[in-house]
Amino acid sequence: MVDRVYVFDLDDTLYLERDYVRSGFMHIGDVSRSHFGVDGVGEHAWSLFEHGTRGNTFDLVAAHFSLPPEATRVFIEEYRNHDPAIALQPDALYYLRNLPDDAVGTGVVTDGFAEGQRRKLRALNLDDVLDNIVVTGEHGPGWTKPSENAFRLIESKFAGREIEFVYFGDNPTKDFNAPHQLGWRTVRVRRPLGLHFAVDDTVVVDETISTFPMKDAVGDQARRVKGRLPQ
Ligand SMILES: [Mg+2]
Repeated sequence: MVDRVYVFDLDDTLYLERDYVRSGFMHIGDVSRSHFGVDGVGEHAWSLFEHGTRGNTFDLVAAHFSLPPEATRVFIEEYRNHDPAIALQPDALYYLRNLPDDAVGTGVVTDGFAEGQRRKLRALNLDDVLDNIVVTGEHGPGWTKPSENAFRLIESKFAGREIEFVYFGDNPTKDFNAPHQLGWRTVRVRRPLGLHFAVDDTVVVDETISTFPMKDAVGDQARRVKGRLPQ
């Protein structure tokens, strides 16, 4: 049996990014109430998201409620730095608790605003559970996927060993090229509620799944998972 290291993307692979967006918008609703004395901002922002708005939501919200010019900047800062109310998808939780018997290590490669990604990892209790966590935003702009840097860093932790690396991601545009180039096995987790669900598969994806497998993954959890997962 070949030893494998299982490495995961975070957003929309282990939890739903839309849950993070909703959590952030509800926080913005609280901020609007306390800073600007305006109600309904979070609900309005969420409604825009549900109708397909991406990227300029806070500008639209600020205009809709006639908020002061600094509102968008405050919202972005608060959104990125809030402690999110998010949870692992049930299949991801199960999989992490019951990794295949060939697992000798784990990892995470995730892009995005570094402090925000760290808060997500803490909220999901993953920084206690997974090893080799690479938040590319902590390393510099040259590390963002599809850069190979983060994947090479994880490989270096297992130097000299015969290992097959596996990367689970959700975004065909950027997740899989680098690990594929390095000879990793690539698995797309294509969740119907994921933000990149509609993007077509690419040739660099070895396998596409809609959820992590929840059967045939029974084993000695304590041997492989060093920390504590949420109950
Ligand atoms: Mg993702």
